Amino acid sequence: MRPEELDPATLESRQVGPITILFGYENGKYPYGNSFCIQGENQCAIIDPSLGIVARKNGLPEVDMVIHSHTHEDHIAGTHLFPDVPWYAHYEDALGLESIEGLMEIYGLPPGETYDAFLRNIESAFYFPHSGSSVGQVRKFEEGHVFDFGGVTLEVLHTPGHTRGHCCFLVRWGDSPDKRFVYLGDIELTGFGPYYGDAWSNLEDFESSMKRLETVDAQWWLTFHHKGLIEGRETFLQMLEKFSAMIGDRESRLLDYIVEARTLDEIVAHRFVYRPGQTGFLTDWTEQGSMLQHLDRLVEAGRVSHVNGRYQVNQG
Ligand SMILES: [Zn+2]
Repeated sequence: MRPEELDPATLESRQVGPITILFGYENGKYPYGNSFCIQGENQCAIIDPSLGIVARKNGLPEVDMVIHSHTHEDHIAGTHLFPDVPWYAHYEDALGLESIEGLMEIYGLPPGETYDAFLRNIESAFYFPHSGSSVGQVRKFEEGHVFDFGGVTLEVLHTPGHTRGHCCFLVRWGDSPDKRFVYLGDIELTGFGPYYGDAWSNLEDFESSMKRLETVDAQWWLTFHHKGLIEGRETFLQMLEKFSAMIGDRESRLLDYIVEARTLDEIVAHRFVYRPGQTGFLTDWTEQGSMLQHLDRLVEAGRVSHVNGRYQVNQG
């Protein structure tokens, strides 16, 4: 459903300390997502304004800045509604706010029909400001940067893997863990599993980022999609373990499949990330990008050979 057709009163919100979570349609199911505002004594920020913010555009809070976990189409869909305040992103991803061509570079699609169709979709369905029209002032941050809004801070945890500049945010408004909130962005803890299918994705970085999150202590956790708000660190850790185990699961199914030599096309058609038989816009592209990350590291480790265009497990 297009955001203009939604009654904003049907969209849920929830308060946690100084944080107002603005849930998207169906708990932030793609193309929607869960955004939030932080209201400090001095300043207010909105984080990852989604299509749910577009649906609420007649009742938006006044904000002093927009902060992004990364620059994918669904995380910046409402950013154009705040043209007069700075737009922040990690320096690796900031080009995705500066121009549509910059954003397209992050996905890494080759020029052609799919590239053109996706670009048009980002402009129309995700409201990317057309070239020449107003784009807010883009500012960049890096690992460890702390935003202080007055009585509440947001610390940047650079957690690459999904994109090069993907970040999680640790929000604190006191010393105890129940006054700590972590925004997970697209480390989304869903049954789909980790997404590392774009040109700017990196499987090893994704794994390191999840390891890092195991060490963070907080009571509240929020994902952009599906899972929404999670209460309690133990619950979060269990969900994270299940989510990260899907990487090993994909890899062991791949190794079983390439006991016989297989081409990349056969591997992509077999499906390890998506369900067998699943098709759709960008599905083959993402499946291929993801499985190449596994294949490349298996070849490098000497566990798989790549000969005459076919991949095969090395025996013994
Ligand atoms: Zn994303």
